[in-house]
Amino acid sequence: MLNDADPGRIEDAIRKARSGQRLSPEEIRMLLSLKDEGQREMLFQSARSVRSAYFGTKIFFYGFIYFSTYCKNDCTFCLFRTSNPLAPRYRKSANLILETAKLIADSGAHLIDLTMGEDPAYGMQTETQSYPIAEIVRQIKTETGLPVMVSPGVIPGDRLRLLMDAGADWYACYQETHNRKLFHKLRPGQSYDERLSAKFEAHRLGLLIEEGILSGAGETEEDLVHSISTMQLLDADQVRTMTFMPQRGTPMETLRPDTSDRELLFIALMRLTFPDRLIPASLDLRGLDGIEERLHAGANVVTSVIPPGKGWVGVVRNDFDIENSNRTTQRVQRILDICGLQAGSRQDYLHWMENRRIALGKSRQGERRCATL
Ligand code: SF4
Repeated sequence: MLNDADPGRIEDAIRKARSGQRLSPEEIRMLLSLKDEGQREMLFQSARSVRSAYFGTKIFFYGFIYFSTYCKNDCTFCLFRTSNPLAPRYRKSANLILETAKLIADSGAHLIDLTMGEDPAYGMQTETQSYPIAEIVRQIKTETGLPVMVSPGVIPGDRLRLLMDAGADWYACYQETHNRKLFHKLRPGQSYDERLSAKFEAHRLGLLIEEGILSGAGETEEDLVHSISTMQLLDADQVRTMTFMPQRGTPMETLRPDTSDRELLFIALMRLTFPDRLIPASLDLRGLDGIEERLHAGANVVTSVIPPGKGWVGVVRNDFDIENSNRTTQRVQRILDICGLQAGSRQDYLHWMENRRIALGKSRQGERRCATL
């Protein structure tokens, strides 16, 4: 059994990952349990050097628009679960969404992330056969020209197709865990397979996909190893983790919040196992300080840039750092300077997306060839 007290094997595993070799589950588990500061730093340093080999010093920014906080689901970890009377609720108008998207675009972001709870009001409109989210995507694309990521929850293939036809580039839908038992505790009444299948389907249609997990919500190291292999199976284009934070009015309200230690190790592990992919550092949890440590661990996207003065909320700490302008690209830029990093250009981001689409097209062709053999 490998363990923390075996520095030689830890160094071997880090060297192995850094040279592009696949880590064994046992090696991943070993690295996820690192406690020694020096060994952790060695892992982070390797993750940064892998990021630099693929992305240089370039970092991307995502603007975040949480346009409906209504949701039909009752996830036990989430402030916006349907049964929580303490959740701030709103549905923002298409005009305000568009106005905010333009503000975000003007501030230099690389992508607009359109997120909502699973709000039935934004479902397919049977009378007009229209899909409101697709209409919003179309307008944002026309007005800003930026790539758009959509997080509408689990939706069937025909709606994914409508989003894609409207110009959506990304479909984000976090599983939160790849342990089925824990999934049903976190997302009661929801289907593990449906959620996972929606991402395979989105990829098959040609959308880029983001997969994510919650850290510190009851998962074991074994579960995290399994998450890495499921993310590899999905061939996710963007992979993320976020530390669980107890939310008022929810069944998990009294749980002790975790430190970010595990999240940081997982970010570094994701960088080593997904060297050419996008890995977010969210402003949601610890704001600008939190960004610095996540970039230090190998992340290369700053998410949840939110303009002040419009009444928007974030997901994890819903009003944190928004109205004091600490979620703006200008403030994030200062952290990049401290870290010796810089914002990539829009062209850099588009180029990365284009390369990923080419890689996905080739792997789909390969799959078709195998199927006909
Ligand atoms: S996590 Fe998403 S699906 Fe679950 S209750 Fe919250 S908003 Fe709804």
